Amino acid sequence: MSSMPDQFVFPGIPARVVFGSGTLAQIGEEVRRLGRSRALVLSTPHQVSDAEALSGQLGDLSVGVFAEAEMHTPVAVTERAVAAYKAAGADCVVALGGGSTIGLGKAIATRTGADQVAIPTTYAGSEMTDILGETEEGRKTTRRDPSIRPETVVYDVDLTLGLPAQMTVTSALNAIAHAFEALYAPDANPISSLMAGDAIRAIRDGLPAVKAAPGNKAARAEVLYGAWLCSAALGYTTMSLHHKLAHVLGGSFGTPHAETHAILLPHTIGFNAAATDRLDTVAGLFGGNVGGGLWDFASDLGAPLRLSDLGLTEADLDRAAGIALENSYSNPRPFQEEDIRALLQAAWEGNRPD
Ligand code: NAD
Repeated sequence: MSSMPDQFVFPGIPARVVFGSGTLAQIGEEVRRLGRSRALVLSTPHQVSDAEALSGQLGDLSVGVFAEAEMHTPVAVTERAVAAYKAAGADCVVALGGGSTIGLGKAIATRTGADQVAIPTTYAGSEMTDILGETEEGRKTTRRDPSIRPETVVYDVDLTLGLPAQMTVTSALNAIAHAFEALYAPDANPISSLMAGDAIRAIRDGLPAVKAAPGNKAARAEVLYGAWLCSAALGYTTMSLHHKLAHVLGGSFGTPHAETHAILLPHTIGFNAAATDRLDTVAGLFGGNVGGGLWDFASDLGAPLRLSDLGLTEADLDRAAGIALENSYSNPRPFQEEDIRALLQAAWEGNRPD
């Protein structure tokens, strides 16, 4: 009981969620359920054949495929997509892919009022949130708005069976970071905390089994269930130091999204664990020491452990620590620039946090 906030707001559960194996077959029904009949199917170039197959499956409900989604939602791509959406007379989007494709769907929706059906094929966790990050002229801006959140999310375990092993691990560690920060978020509520706690348990239980046998459907279902809860918890809450540092490294130094989250995770969460009792409910899952336990978990899974492997230099760490201090944000543990610099050094060297 000690970790329950004295006051909270529970904003309701805003998205319809369909979860299971073979649920891709239900997309047409979900489009009709929204009262829509002209879907533009979205994907990255890499997943274009899956998007075309889905468009074929939708038949008259599809007006075609736009397969140019890119990491960080560049506004130039969104403008081409909105033009395609309008030219085709579309009335909704169906986004099939990871966070990049779902981000494009959100960017179209917030500009046109399109309804969205999101079909996540990674664990990144954009689908349940009202958050959109966009890039223009090298600058990334992030905003929250109810018009950004997809109306319907369809999780099909089958679509994750072929997710490459390394991406599976980094993407799931990216997901679990949302749940950890949701637990100590200033706007946590009892439901977001329940979701975050079970998300961490599910990924902790399921991921080693997926790593051992990537085609293990039951284990894949467990991890995807966890990823859903991570995304939902992210959608309810405000993130802290971990997400700030991941944003600084990705935004200012171009480090890859999921790997950056995976490497920072034991260091940021371990740093904060010393200052909050909100992680007590999950500490036992990591041997009682969240930082060291997360590092062991990541190491056993073969996850990347060193920021130096992402091409960062020690001079970059000096700059990153400075940028991370530019704006204030909530965090359970107060810090100075030298604390962040030391944390980044440990993550750069790949040391196990105490
Ligand atoms: P991604 O969507 O860029 O996907 C990476 C690559 O993997 C792409 O080429 C994609 O086509 C491919 N891929 C996806 N699923 C696959 C599968 N099952 N099998 C094989 N290949 C597959 O990467 P991501 O990590 O899913 O998303 C990262 C992006 O999402 C970032 O831009 C991040 O900022 C954003 N994001 C946003 C939020 C939010 O709430 N707004 C939350 C989390 C992440």
